[in-house]
Amino acid sequence: MVIVKTAREISKMMDACRISANALRVAGEYVKPGVTTREIDEQVRKYIEKQGAVPSFLGYGGFPASACISVNNVVIHGIPSDEQVLKEGDIVSVDVGAFYEGFHGDNAYTYACGKVSENAKKLMDATRISLEKGIEAACAGNRVGDIGNAVQRYVEARGYSVVRDFVGHGVGAKLHEDPSIPNFGKAGRGVRLLPGMTIAIEPMICEGSYEVEVLEDDWTTVTVDGKLAAHYENTIAITPDGPKIMTVPG
Ligand code: MG
Repeated sequence: MVIVKTAREISKMMDACRISANALRVAGEYVKPGVTTREIDEQVRKYIEKQGAVPSFLGYGGFPASACISVNNVVIHGIPSDEQVLKEGDIVSVDVGAFYEGFHGDNAYTYACGKVSENAKKLMDATRISLEKGIEAACAGNRVGDIGNAVQRYVEARGYSVVRDFVGHGVGAKLHEDPSIPNFGKAGRGVRLLPGMTIAIEPMICEGSYEVEVLEDDWTTVTVDGKLAAHYENTIAITPDGPKIMTVPG
């Protein structure tokens, strides 16, 4: 069931979204060669808890950390670890959510660790821009398929592929609400977008094939061909005046 929020609920949810966005920025400050992914996760958890909020991902479905940290060929759901030391040239996708006063905010960003290859940079740029294209398509009266189609068209024109097995989602009082927001699809198809819907748009884009597999830890999701993947996400609200990005730092 699609949940439409009141303007008052959306304004309350902005606080959770701001905390999530700030936490993501904190994570980005720690993405440097020599830092472990566990250290980044610790900084994220501390920041969120200091705001009186709760890390949305900690314990969600048994996930053991506050942030998903996915390096290079890991697409999503990487588990922070003391053993994983970042090195120059890594691309590091961090996904963070915060729960505050009844609502979740959810966002992700792929950070460069030091200087990255030209190929990595192009993939990151294309994925980031595809998120913008998806957001632009998230206008009241449009349909969910318009979002996915905008993302898919942009990245496939550049030779990249869109992950099929994982998608964006509604977000609000629950971390994952209806509807699903695929990053692929046909324009004009799917659930109609209504003012008051709050959704997480999160393109997961691969350098090679979109085939992914989940490792034995039941979380870490990698590209089957071992090539790079990038992931950007914002929580947005559908408003009568157009899409409004909610996960804005401040
Ligand atoms: Mg999400």
